[in-house]
Amino acid sequence: METAEYLDRKIETASPKEVQKLQEAKLARQLDYLFACSAFYQDKFRTARIKRKDYRRLRDLSRFPFTTKEELRESQASCPPLGRHAAADWVDVIRVHSSTGTTGKASFVGLTRRDAKMWAKLTARSFYTQGLRKTDVVVHAAGLTMFAGGLPVKDAIESIGAVFVPIGTGASERALAATQLLRANAMHCTPSYASYFADFVRREAKTEPRELGLQKLFCGAEPGAGIPAVRAKLQEEWGARVTEGLGNADMAPIIFSECRQQSGMHFNGPEYVVVEIIDPETGETLPVEKGVTGELVYTSLERECVPLLRFRTRDRVTVLDTLCACGRTGFKLRCIGRTDDMLIVLGVNVFPSAVKDVVSSFYPRTTGEIQIVLNQPGPKVAPPLKVVAEYTGASGTAQLKSEIEHKIKAVLSVSAAVDLVAGGTLPRFEMKGQLIRKAYEITDTERRN
Ligand SMILES: [Zn+2]
Repeated sequence: METAEYLDRKIETASPKEVQKLQEAKLARQLDYLFACSAFYQDKFRTARIKRKDYRRLRDLSRFPFTTKEELRESQASCPPLGRHAAADWVDVIRVHSSTGTTGKASFVGLTRRDAKMWAKLTARSFYTQGLRKTDVVVHAAGLTMFAGGLPVKDAIESIGAVFVPIGTGASERALAATQLLRANAMHCTPSYASYFADFVRREAKTEPRELGLQKLFCGAEPGAGIPAVRAKLQEEWGARVTEGLGNADMAPIIFSECRQQSGMHFNGPEYVVVEIIDPETGETLPVEKGVTGELVYTSLERECVPLLRFRTRDRVTVLDTLCACGRTGFKLRCIGRTDDMLIVLGVNVFPSAVKDVVSSFYPRTTGEIQIVLNQPGPKVAPPLKVVAEYTGASGTAQLKSEIEHKIKAVLSVSAAVDLVAGGTLPRFEMKGQLIRKAYEITDTERRN
């Protein structure tokens, strides 16, 4: 039984003009709210000498100052529990999540009842876009506690009418049993976990992952499922369709998600978030056109507790298209990594996920697992880039090493020295993978950042 293509047809297929009109009006109301209720933004606007009347059209948004994660951290430390940027009364907050970031301390994100409803609605739309239907049984093998991709995902999946099975992380035996006994056909997890769990199934259940019957893998929380060679490997070993979503703990759990065309993640929430893509160096707003690469910046349109304006995500993305065969009008992108992870080798920017893509393209001669070893703090790295990769099988490693080094040079324009180790040597991760190993003493400053 085929069900409808869209969960919210009107907004998902709205024309760019309709979206602009809607966002223009909603942003005006959100700015009224910030000027009236947010001490944090009142200060920022005063410092930037910007007034409410400076906003008339949507394009005037670029005149307003950015908000950074560091500012949110400072705001929370100086004004607990939620920070000066929390614009709702504590009494109206119904739930608190945390955004951990990659290194720094966790920071709290409060939700009012309306905020939580909005998160659930947008998250449901994202899962539906990825092909979740009410007949599905989904094993949630991702974080549940505090994590923005936990309880809101439960609300979203249940609202579609599918079965939500709350397994959490670090419970592969339970995930395996639940998948078999409940005949689950879908899983929500990080791509690192999908790969980890495949090894677990082979080892513990003595069966091939595809025998488990998972047909839909909904991935997120890190780039991976959208890396072509990584996706190909996951689809091949699981016999499942792999799609991915992208969100931000401070803004919404999933804001972009891939439709069944699997050709990039659609922007799913134009009535809740304004998306800008900026040049990370100059801060200039770039046009949302095919091929444009930059940093994602979010402005919330309906947030009560954490109404962020021009929030810099540090996610580096590339616009893949503004059209799609599915009929959705939200543009499509792929996340290529986080600014924090970017390395620079002789002036060439390299994201670890791109190196993983090259190494994974040698699957099944490699397992696809990699680690980039840094002998000094980045982002500048003296060539060659040290890459540890895993081989499978017994022979031909010298040939494989040279082939991988050659392809890294050809695709990424950097010299690499590949060190091949036996399959299963590198650490596996049940949450987000860690593609960089710091082989130097970490200073206090770096730890703080
Ligand atoms: Zn589509």
